[in-house]
Amino acid sequence: MLVSMANTNSKTAEKQTLDQVFAPGGWLARHHPKYEFRPGQLEMAESVAAAIENRQHLIVEAGTGTGKTLAYLVPLLRSGLRTVISTGTKNLQEQLFYKDIPFLKKLFPQMRVTLMKGRQNYLCRQKLYDIEKQPVLDGMEQVEQYPKLREWEGRTETGDRAELRWLPDASELWKKVDARSEACTGQKCREFERCFITKMHQRAAESDLLIVNHHLFFADLALRQREYATLLPDYAALVFDEAHDMEDVATQYFGVEVSNYRVEELARDTEATLRVKAIKSNEVLTAVGELRRRAELFFEFFPPSEGKSNFDHRENFLEVHRGAYSALTNALMLLQTELSRVPERPEEINNLARRAVELRAAFELVLEGQERNMVYWWERRGRGVFMQATPIDVSALLRERLFEKVDTVVLTSATLAVGGSFDFLKRRLGLQNAKERILDSHFDFAHQALLYTPLHLPDPRQPDFARLAAEEVSHVLKATHGRAFVLFTSYAQMRDVYERLRPRLRYPLMIQGSMPRTELLDRFRSTPHAVLFGTSSFWQGVDVQGEQLSAVLIDRLPFAVPTDPVTAARIRQINEEGGNAFMDYQVPQAVITLKQGFGRLIRSETDRGILAMLDHRMVRMPYGRIFLESLPPYRKTNRLEDVKAFMRE
Ligand code: SF4
Repeated sequence: MLVSMANTNSKTAEKQTLDQVFAPGGWLARHHPKYEFRPGQLEMAESVAAAIENRQHLIVEAGTGTGKTLAYLVPLLRSGLRTVISTGTKNLQEQLFYKDIPFLKKLFPQMRVTLMKGRQNYLCRQKLYDIEKQPVLDGMEQVEQYPKLREWEGRTETGDRAELRWLPDASELWKKVDARSEACTGQKCREFERCFITKMHQRAAESDLLIVNHHLFFADLALRQREYATLLPDYAALVFDEAHDMEDVATQYFGVEVSNYRVEELARDTEATLRVKAIKSNEVLTAVGELRRRAELFFEFFPPSEGKSNFDHRENFLEVHRGAYSALTNALMLLQTELSRVPERPEEINNLARRAVELRAAFELVLEGQERNMVYWWERRGRGVFMQATPIDVSALLRERLFEKVDTVVLTSATLAVGGSFDFLKRRLGLQNAKERILDSHFDFAHQALLYTPLHLPDPRQPDFARLAAEEVSHVLKATHGRAFVLFTSYAQMRDVYERLRPRLRYPLMIQGSMPRTELLDRFRSTPHAVLFGTSSFWQGVDVQGEQLSAVLIDRLPFAVPTDPVTAARIRQINEEGGNAFMDYQVPQAVITLKQGFGRLIRSETDRGILAMLDHRMVRMPYGRIFLESLPPYRKTNRLEDVKAFMRE
């Protein structure tokens, strides 16, 4: 697929070689006050340009400080092809769009770039107007917020909620007015021409470069699979930044989920649409009531204990509860029938009928599907019961739908290689032919970081571990004067160690869950000597530069929980196919996670500090060598005195 954009960029930009842009005294040096020549950056830019030129795929591991965003942006923009960048987070998406792109405008004055997020980030004008006609606002907060939204709707160019700093993350009002596809009537909508989604698609179709995130990208790829309307226009080259997340996000979008919440959402949206559209239909309301009742009876059969469980015994479950299950799917069918009978029904009602059909099909897939490559499982979280069908291996899907369809896919991140090889990544993602590069970091890790692995602690699976680990954490924190992240692989272990240290340490201690994540990070940044205790959500995507973060301590090697239904199914599949799941899957996955976790410490050339791994298996077990060989060349010790001396230096 070759998608070329006519007359894209200025002659100046096209004439400049990559050398002239990146070399000392080149365009970047003249235009960027802080620019510093980094050979790795130029090497990466050349590799990306060659991959586009030769229509090849490319994997590049480029550590923090390589300047990888410019290294892929410049060759993409020079190519004159329509290209896509997919980032792991919305934050990185915005940083590219609002910081790097405006800077590069001087070099590529005619470039057209569109930022695209998932539909739920944008306002639906029609829903906003409908609310005015038929007030469905709950509580004072929504009543106060509504006029502010109306006023903003009149002046915003994009309709992107990121412009609304005052809107709480979990705003109930926003859920009533966002542009998610379930309630969108598309071309039949009166506002279609003015719609923010339509405008975004138009801009995208005329753009050289689209900036999306992995969630939007894989939602699009899954839609293409189902041959529905796609979200992204065709493109010739694609860069995944933070590509270490790809398998997880792809798995999420190629799977199917049903839940009591999804049933309730359909019931609630149906009632709201009847209200907003002033439709009186007792038949539909009765069908909604029936659906709620049947769902409640059905979901009651799931035990109350929190957590994930395998659903291998679906046949037995259905044998016992067939009646309740049929009653639920019949209730969905009844709702669909009653909605289709509404006279002179608006498109919104057809939409709801379609959703009832889709939900019924999803229930059938999750409860009766027999796909070999799917693992079926369920989970209780609070009052929610979620049933899932998740692909065990997405490699064939990605090979067929992505790597064989797009000329050039570039995968980049600071954490892709395991023991100097990309085999794990390529196997999991189904990527066969790709050029490979591991770029030397710009940081001097041997001087900037000391990796401390105390050998006197017991195995982390021993009952005494938490007590002795807490002791060790306190010694390290005293040497670093707090200023640390203490990261855990489990919530229980985090709480245990935190409670042991709370009365003993004089530093301000903060713990995940005590306030929203961004607030916690802001507090950490602004509180001298703070120590933050966290689990998985702090292992990646967190950037704290300077002395404020002088140590990262990790309790144990971050192996995925082997009883997790998806992990267990992957382990089983690899072993059944004659592989060694521990070495082929569990170790490499833990290596990548550990590289992410330790990667929090050194974020700039002047950062320095301690990395502590309290799990001695990294040194004592034969497989520990793979972890050690995969990490940057930190200085290493197992003596606490060296930690103290390093901090005194
Ligand atoms: S086209 Fe869809 S998203 Fe856009 S205003 Fe209409 S209903 Fe809302």
